[in-house]
Amino acid sequence: MLIYNTMSRKKENFEPFKGNNVNMYVCGPTVYDFFHIGNGRTFVMADIIRRYLEFRKFKVNYVMNLTDVDDKIIRKANEENTDSKSVAERYISAFFEDIKKLKIRQADISPKATEHMPEIINLIKKIEEKGYAYNVEGNVFYDVKKFDNYGKLSGKNLDELEAGARVEINEEKKNPLDFSLWKKAKEGEPFWVSPWGNGRPGWHIECSAMSQKHLGETIDIHGGGSDLIFPHHENEIAQSEAATGHKFVKYWIHFGFLNFQNEKMSKSLGNFFTVRDVVKKFPAEVIRFYFCQAHYAAQLNFSDELLQSAQSGLEKIQLLYDKCKAEESKGEKGKEDFDFAPYYKEFEDAMDDDFNTPQAVAAIFNFVKGVNKKTAEDKEVGAYFYSEAKKFLELTASGVLGIIKEESGAANAELENNLVNLLIDLRKELKLQKNYKMADEIRDKLHQMGIQLEDSKTGTTFRKILGN
Ligand code: AMP
Ligand code: ZN
Repeated sequence: MLIYNTMSRKKENFEPFKGNNVNMYVCGPTVYDFFHIGNGRTFVMADIIRRYLEFRKFKVNYVMNLTDVDDKIIRKANEENTDSKSVAERYISAFFEDIKKLKIRQADISPKATEHMPEIINLIKKIEEKGYAYNVEGNVFYDVKKFDNYGKLSGKNLDELEAGARVEINEEKKNPLDFSLWKKAKEGEPFWVSPWGNGRPGWHIECSAMSQKHLGETIDIHGGGSDLIFPHHENEIAQSEAATGHKFVKYWIHFGFLNFQNEKMSKSLGNFFTVRDVVKKFPAEVIRFYFCQAHYAAQLNFSDELLQSAQSGLEKIQLLYDKCKAEESKGEKGKEDFDFAPYYKEFEDAMDDDFNTPQAVAAIFNFVKGVNKKTAEDKEVGAYFYSEAKKFLELTASGVLGIIKEESGAANAELENNLVNLLIDLRKELKLQKNYKMADEIRDKLHQMGIQLEDSKTGTTFRKILGN
């Protein structure tokens, strides 16, 4: 199995440190708002990698942290006249709800920074004892010049990094690239007691401390969006390796951006769509299928049109799954002369090559074609064949990629979903043309059928009225 390692800039053979066990850490969200579908792409692709490692019988221990103390959380709390703990708690709950909506399995451990203060403080102490940190009146900085090979992940030396970095001028720092390990508390901010006075940790140290606590000094896979290579992951390496003297991470994986109109989707640019809104329009399976059509490291554009066209491609796979399920239940055993092994091989070869999901999807389509051809030509296929075909889709399309629904009648539900959304779009168009009579008629007729439209500032959604 090959994995592209950002550190070596090449595909490397995957061999975990300890036999069959894989320790995997992915940087999670800062919980000050709902997460957007760009973050969603990173979390979905990480989920697929985890699921595939399990498919290959590795024992995966997956950690995704929650950054619950941060400037943005404090700012939001001040705006709302509340405390940062309640802001963080609200968005942690929302995060768990939203990953579920995208069929992302929760990590084995989801550690919070605020629950790891002793570990964070101890790690900073260690870094300080070893001479890599300096304290300026309660603000503790990491001294990047002390760490040999600072920049090795980005492939740049200190001068190049300095030239390219937009770091704010801070008179307390010896070098503009030095970063905060511990921030002295300002008036009204949450704080913890430490050897350097009251304060809170910097962002980077959280990940070093939490990954070490839950996965040990050296981990197999560490991932995140490609915006995290510098400075976040570079800084994590500097901290962890300075403290332990050991290699921090064996394989670095970075996820490409989800773009909107060719620009990185981000909170600060305002060009984002929350997962909560996107899942109102498209089922999780369609979103995941769309993401699978690009390699995880490549950039990918997002738009309703692109997702719509993904939807119709996916239907072929779902329809076959539903058919296999229905035919299997008829129980007539039938012939056992179909070789499924080459299809598994094709899927595995694709995923073994640095998790090449576009090729894995092509392998599944190839399978759909092969099965449809067999059932068209051979009238003696029966439950055995359909149950094996169903198993293939359950293990690959459902188990690894998460792109089909296993419940019965899923294809019909999807069609129903599409039709209602079509009517919603039509009603919007009618309203723009000031044809309110027809627009209201659509709403009322849908209501009679048990579908309630709900208008809000961000658009119209629908729900089924209970009892229907
Ligand atoms: P944040 O809450 O901004 O720290 O982001 C959480 C995760 O989502 C990080 O791994 C980011 O690198 C990743 N991320 C942020 N924006 C995007 C985007 N547009 N496309 C893909 N991943 C992203
Ligand atoms: Zn991190």
